[in-house]
Amino acid sequence: MRTEPDPRTFRVDPTSPAGRAFALLPGSWPRRVSVLGSTGTVGAAALAVFRAQPGRFTIDTLAAGARMRELAAQVKEFAPTCVVVRGDAERNELLQLTDLAKASVLVGAGGLAEAAAHPTDVLLHAVSGAAGLPATLGAVEAGRTIALANKESLVLAGELVDARARVTGAAIVPVDSEHAGLFQCLAGAGHAGRFRRLILTASGGPLRTRLDWADATPDEVLAHPIWKMGPRITVDSALLLNKGLEVIEARALFGVPLAAIDVVIHPQAIVHALVEMADHSTLAQLSLPDMKLPVQLALAWPDRLPAPIPALDFTRSLSLDFEPLAAGRFPSFDLARVAAEKGGNAPAVLNAADEVLVEAFLDRRIRLGDVPVLLASCLEAVPHGPADTLARIEDADRAAREAAREALAGTRS
Ligand code: MG
Repeated sequence: MRTEPDPRTFRVDPTSPAGRAFALLPGSWPRRVSVLGSTGTVGAAALAVFRAQPGRFTIDTLAAGARMRELAAQVKEFAPTCVVVRGDAERNELLQLTDLAKASVLVGAGGLAEAAAHPTDVLLHAVSGAAGLPATLGAVEAGRTIALANKESLVLAGELVDARARVTGAAIVPVDSEHAGLFQCLAGAGHAGRFRRLILTASGGPLRTRLDWADATPDEVLAHPIWKMGPRITVDSALLLNKGLEVIEARALFGVPLAAIDVVIHPQAIVHALVEMADHSTLAQLSLPDMKLPVQLALAWPDRLPAPIPALDFTRSLSLDFEPLAAGRFPSFDLARVAAEKGGNAPAVLNAADEVLVEAFLDRRIRLGDVPVLLASCLEAVPHGPADTLARIEDADRAAREAAREALAGTRS
């Protein structure tokens, strides 16, 4: 009898960051947690979970880059033992707003990385953008369990995070809703089970039915029909660049090849991910689109707490539609797959150039249709190389931003 597995099927690498999270044992309660990015949308979801689950969580660190007034109110409410802010100006502002006698205050990227390494039960990392990378590396070096919402860490530094986590034993429980969906499907399947495809859903955003989207305005793009998010990720979602980054994120989380990851358009955003098993049975994770659920699951994993959000209402009719994502329909998505295949510093280049270009679009300096065109030129312009150290990733990030600024200057002439 043949015993080798079907080569068209895959399994989660048990030594990948999420593979190790499957093996985590139930912890003790209350759980001690730190929240990096506490004044952002994912941070707000976490604080809502803490309020809904009194007595279950105690707070080690709150870190916020902006909105000191909100942070001051959070310090009062949750009494963290450590607070991290961007710089001295923010620290002084915070000191005027609240009494910090009982908390130590850390500053900047170094402070964030130091707080990320604190021994807690779980670290929720919801700082947005490439700025979150040093904190991820700090937590990974300390062998922490990370509830990770900062996808850039795995997009820019997937290989580095994976290599170091193998040494330190750090585990990552995904917070990104699609990856939380995959994580739950794979846990339900018995994560050693072989599958043919991991499928991320994309709502398709405000441009799904609009073929001539090149001239869509910032106001039109920022009106995302389902998720309320920051401006850059909303534009990235509309162009499906975000979904491309999520493909790279899934590869790094689960240690599977790119060929095992697919995307399908699902406008209702009720099904967050699907796993097509080796025998063509397809598992799906369904829930209302609300970040409180994946945040709570990641903080409580492998336990499940009472619901932070309503259940799906099957007393009313509920339609679930799926549409293929046609190649060429969203060029930014195709570019992300190209960058993923190139590997090395290409995803870092893609991410940084996109950040500059999206900002130019939001400032109405370029058309939406210019974003993928200029992004392709930036991917070409920056020399390809490895991304095995933080310094190399930061170099690629800088070079990409420079290339994007040059590309933008070219559009003005
Ligand atoms: Mg997502």
